[in-house]
Amino acid sequence: MSTLEQQYLAVKARIHQACQSAGRSETAVKLLAVSKTKPATMVEEVYRLGQRSFGENYVQDGMDKITALSHLTDIEWHFIGPLQSNKSRQVAEHFHWVETVDRLKIARRLSEQRPAGMPALNVLLQVNISAEPQKSGVMPEDIAELAAGVASLPGLCLRGLMCIAEHTGDEERLAGQLRLMHELLHTLQITYPQADTLSMGMSGDLELAVACGSTQLRIGTDIFGARGAH
Ligand SMILES: *Cc1c(COP(=O)(O)O)cnc(C)c1O
Repeated sequence: MSTLEQQYLAVKARIHQACQSAGRSETAVKLLAVSKTKPATMVEEVYRLGQRSFGENYVQDGMDKITALSHLTDIEWHFIGPLQSNKSRQVAEHFHWVETVDRLKIARRLSEQRPAGMPALNVLLQVNISAEPQKSGVMPEDIAELAAGVASLPGLCLRGLMCIAEHTGDEERLAGQLRLMHELLHTLQITYPQADTLSMGMSGDLELAVACGSTQLRIGTDIFGARGAH
């Protein structure tokens, strides 16, 4: 068994265990394999193990892999990095999900640039749940207004919320923020029942995220190994 296979199976086992501990069904928690900076050959190896959803942070790095792996027609590509306006077209044309929408301007561009023949682009609103000033994301009190704008755009489908948890050793503080995300999603679902996704939890806080209601874990390091400087 290759190291990559071992690591992938270990992550799957951790998710299984976390779901059991939290009393949640495993089918309610999806795994997004974050392949940023890793080569297409590694993505293909994990695909062969049954993984179908992959996350990319950089437009060009992601496009290279989407092109190289275009023969794997059932891969679902998620864009999870900061998105600049001048690169939105490639994302609108080639990805299935964008998880980092935090302003209406970029949402409008993505909707306009989504090709007519394709299904709507699935969108998550990135929430700055820790209210750290340097972090991107919409503030919790501004979610309703942004959601209304996004939901009115024909090229997009509002699917839920995403956050990048605060880097803190204070587990109670972190848990408080993750639980608040869960409440925010519930509130959103009252108006937008199609918003079924709560994207939170990375290699370091997978178990806590599952306990707090995550429906999508974004795991890079623990599957693909540490990343070099990009
Ligand atoms: C890199 C990244 C991840 C994966 O983080 P790991 O700690 O490597 O599992 C998840 N989400 C986002 C937005 C990222 O940029």
